[in-house]
Amino acid sequence: MTSVWKGASVTRLMPTPESVDLMAMVEDFGAAELEPRAEEGEARGDFPREQLAALGELGILGLPYPEEFGGGAQPAEVYLQALEELSRAWMTVGVSVSVHWLACFPLVTRGTQEQQNRWLAELLGGTLLGGYCLSEPESGSDAASLTTTAVRSGDEYVVNGHKAWITHGGVADFYSAMVRTGGPGPKGISCLLVDGQSAGLSALPRERKMGGSASPTAQLLFEDVHVPADRRMGEEGEGFAIAMSALDAGRLGIAACSVGLAQAALDVAVSYARERKQFGRPIADFQGVSFLLADMATAVAGARALYLDAARRKDAGLPFATEAAMAKLAASDMAMRVTTDAVQVLGGAGYTQDFPVERYFRGAKVLQIVEGTNQIQRLVIGRSLGTHGD
Ligand SMILES: Cc1cc2nc3c(=O)[nH]c(=O)nc-3n(C[C@H](O)[C@H](O)[C@H](O)COP(=O)(O)OP(=O)(O)OC[C@H]3O[C@@H](n4cnc5c(N)ncnc54)[C@H](O)[C@@H]3O)c2cc1C
Repeated sequence: MTSVWKGASVTRLMPTPESVDLMAMVEDFGAAELEPRAEEGEARGDFPREQLAALGELGILGLPYPEEFGGGAQPAEVYLQALEELSRAWMTVGVSVSVHWLACFPLVTRGTQEQQNRWLAELLGGTLLGGYCLSEPESGSDAASLTTTAVRSGDEYVVNGHKAWITHGGVADFYSAMVRTGGPGPKGISCLLVDGQSAGLSALPRERKMGGSASPTAQLLFEDVHVPADRRMGEEGEGFAIAMSALDAGRLGIAACSVGLAQAALDVAVSYARERKQFGRPIADFQGVSFLLADMATAVAGARALYLDAARRKDAGLPFATEAAMAKLAASDMAMRVTTDAVQVLGGAGYTQDFPVERYFRGAKVLQIVEGTNQIQRLVIGRSLGTHGD
């Protein structure tokens, strides 16, 4: 049975009446709590921790996870559309929710029953926020070459190294960290659930970025950080596989954030084009503008369909890694193009901070870089075709 949700921007086919109510709640939250704060929050670099806590209390941070641990037990199809709506209101918040999903993923998918009983309810409860630590200064796209070490000493690992580009770096309550416990290459990597308050763990000052300035991104230093061995997710040597399967899911999150951002840009462009008059007519009456808007709307809808197809495959228990890479690639390239075109539709006004489209444009760029650059997505997709060109 399909239920219809008519949102302010998009009409969606949802799987259940419950999910329709959820979408209405998320849209209301975005309109009341996020959208009005986005411009100033980005200008000042204020991390919206309070709003994320409120989303946690509403159950949004645990939406796709099992009910027995306080999650919302919603399919990816629903969770991702909620994420899209949040990103339409304020992309920094959408990205934060997506990163939290990524950070919880190892415990949810590879934690033992005992580990899940101990930590999962807390992680999904809404008050804690997670980070995901894979990248390092010398190991970006080539993530399997990471050098942060975790040396076993009795019932603990002693972790030393340097993680880079960590979203929520320095503000997260816990991190899923990929560390080297064995020899070189992917088989030497393990995954640890590290308490954000651990002694020896510190963050460098936040990166000064082109966009998304309200979202803290920082390097993390691990200096003799003692992590109890029972905080290892999966077996030693399984960390890289865990990290990659988390990214398969995370890429769907980035695709949904991309679509939300692009939808916001499209909405502004359409309403401006209807109002703005030149040559005695609204500029939307000129075919050069209306065809541009039509192409933008088609691109947004296409990317939405692509991530929803991948999400439904995931929900059905089918392989979805290639489809997730395609969705991330197409949606983030689309967001870059649509936000660029939105600036164009607004003309000079689009280039000023009087309208949000220049902020959307700056925010879009990072989506082509995070969770595997779009070149790396093409490698993943190419591998599925047997033509990766390495
Ligand atoms: C704002 C932000 C937030 C981030 N958040 C996180 C986070 O929370 N956790 C985390 O672990 N990481 C995070 N990252 C890191 C991100 O995942 C990396 O930036 C990304 O994987 C690329 O690594 P790199 O920056 O070292 O670029 P490099 O790997 O040095 O790549 C540079 C260029 O070379 C290209 N390239 C590299 N290898 C190939 C190849 N084989 N074929 C073709 N082209 C190639 C890349 O596509 C890119 O264009 C974040 C990054 C940013 C900017």
